[in-house]
Amino acid sequence: MDGKPSPHVVVIGAGFGGLLATRTLARYPVRVTVIDRRNFHTFQPLLYQVATAGLSPGEIAAPIRWILRGYRNVQVLLGEVEDFDLARKIVKLRDGDIPYDYLIVAAGASHAYFGHDEWEPLAPGLKTVEDAIEIRRRVLLAFELAERDAAETGRHAPLNFVVVGGGPTGVELAGTLAEIAHNVLKNELFGRPVAQR
Ligand SMILES: Cc1cc2nc3c(=O)[nH]c(=O)nc-3n(C[C@H](O)[C@H](O)[C@H](O)COP(=O)(O)OP(=O)(O)OC[C@H]3O[C@@H](n4cnc5c(N)ncnc54)[C@H](O)[C@@H]3O)c2cc1C
Repeated sequence: MDGKPSPHVVVIGAGFGGLLATRTLARYPVRVTVIDRRNFHTFQPLLYQVATAGLSPGEIAAPIRWILRGYRNVQVLLGEVEDFDLARKIVKLRDGDIPYDYLIVAAGASHAYFGHDEWEPLAPGLKTVEDAIEIRRRVLLAFELAERDAAETGRHAPLNFVVVGGGPTGVELAGTLAEIAHNVLKNELFGRPVAQR
């Protein structure tokens, strides 16, 4: 050892990118600070399962400190990064500054409405646990209202869910919605003979 302090690496974001960078760097003589606005990592590939009530949020979220508990040179901080001062090597949080020697920004991506941000309240994205819970709320409420309608009038118009985007997430979501409608909820209906379901 030459007595010099270890370089301080700040990693912003504890998604797949930030965690991989942290685990890789932590094997070397550096100090790593991971900053995330949430204190848990979200396993995004299974968000659609939360959005359709197949999994609970806790099943796809794990505390960042627990994931990185084996690394003594890693510190995890909860904070919202608002800006950088690259000249002074400082990360600016909403409530303070964190200096660094090296900076890794792994803050992920957000969805886009192609210039139509006014669509967002009608069609939320699916990037966070909060998004998934909101979609789940809307989906289950639609089924509840249909059930209520059927209970009061003896019938209800077919529900129509529209998924915009036919990539993996859209296809998985659409498939699971169909599964809920045709398999899961069918067995939970009350008060109507099986033949009418
Ligand atoms: C619904 C869905 C399904 C997917 N399915 C698959 C799949 O099946 N297979 C596959 O390979 N990939 C899949 N992906 C893609 C994959 O999940 C992403 O590519 C990956 O999670 C991106 O990792 P990341 O580390 O770049 O960003 P993220 O996982 O988004 O992590 C970014 C982190 O940065 C934090 N952060 C952001 N801004 C700030 C800030 N200002 N201050 C502090 N912290 C901040 C966030 O809280 C977050 O924890 C899917 C993605 C989604 C959304």
